[in-house]
Amino acid sequence: MRIVDDAAHVRASASATVGLVPTMGYLHEGHLSLLTAAREECDTVVMSLFLNPLQFDNPDDLDRYPLDSDRDMRLAEEAGVDIVFAPSLQAMYPTEPLTRVRVAEVGDHFEGEHRPGHFEGVATVVTKLLASLQPHRAYFGRKDHQQLVLVRRMVADLSLPVDVIGCPIIREPDGLALSSRNIFIRHRDAALTVNRGLEEAAAAVDSGERSSSALTAIVSRDLGLESVDYVGLASQSAAAPLDVLDRPAFLAVAGHLDGVRLIDNLPIDLVGEMLVPDLGIRLAGRSELGGE
Ligand code: AMP
Repeated sequence: MRIVDDAAHVRASASATVGLVPTMGYLHEGHLSLLTAAREECDTVVMSLFLNPLQFDNPDDLDRYPLDSDRDMRLAEEAGVDIVFAPSLQAMYPTEPLTRVRVAEVGDHFEGEHRPGHFEGVATVVTKLLASLQPHRAYFGRKDHQQLVLVRRMVADLSLPVDVIGCPIIREPDGLALSSRNIFIRHRDAALTVNRGLEEAAAAVDSGERSSSALTAIVSRDLGLESVDYVGLASQSAAAPLDVLDRPAFLAVAGHLDGVRLIDNLPIDLVGEMLVPDLGIRLAGRSELGGE
């Protein structure tokens, strides 16, 4: 595995099909699942490791974001990564970027509404990664489903020559979606109300419930978060809020607990003629990397 800070080195050493997995580090099994998918489908696997200040609307969140680059490098190597692209802040943004990418509408609701500037930061850095590393495939988790929708739309709108691949949410055995920030959670029972609500909504979808207000009420009913930013149902094509579940969609939840912002999603896919919830994948045993 090579660790480089210069995109030209990545382009020079990549061969055949190149898969990119963008991360901000502090890897857990969720990131590893994206790396495994890339390893199975691509000749060269590139993982980017960059804590992008542009996408943090809250400076405290950036300041206390967990970092452990030795650990990340070891895990990346074990996952079969060929090249880690780990640019410095200076290399990524030698000057204040005056050009920003904003994806209208897709980024206006849910995360976009509650984290001003966040999606502009994401879209700008992902565009820079895609332009400079030139992967054929780029892998994103459904854990951040609105982000996945946004990247897909941006790639289509800008005719970027890359296939965007969405990967299932990896969860703890008790259902909690893995996140680098889970190490800060003290009230786990309260955190588990998020995925439990989504599971109950999934069961309702399976039983034929199609009303957005009914589904979001099911998720909200027993939420034990300190505060809730949103619970909503949105289309997979444009992250537009839906009144009725009549197309591929996702139920999204975000809120605060123990000083952590928790996000979880329930993608609902069209399989044949049926709308089928995707609850993600539960690890067989407790995450060794998610932290306690
Ligand atoms: P981050 O390092 O938080 O920016 O995440 C990098 C990528 O990993 C994003 O595409 C996330 O959606 C994805 N990811 C984070 N947590 C999970 C998870 N629990 N399951 C699947 N993908 C995840």
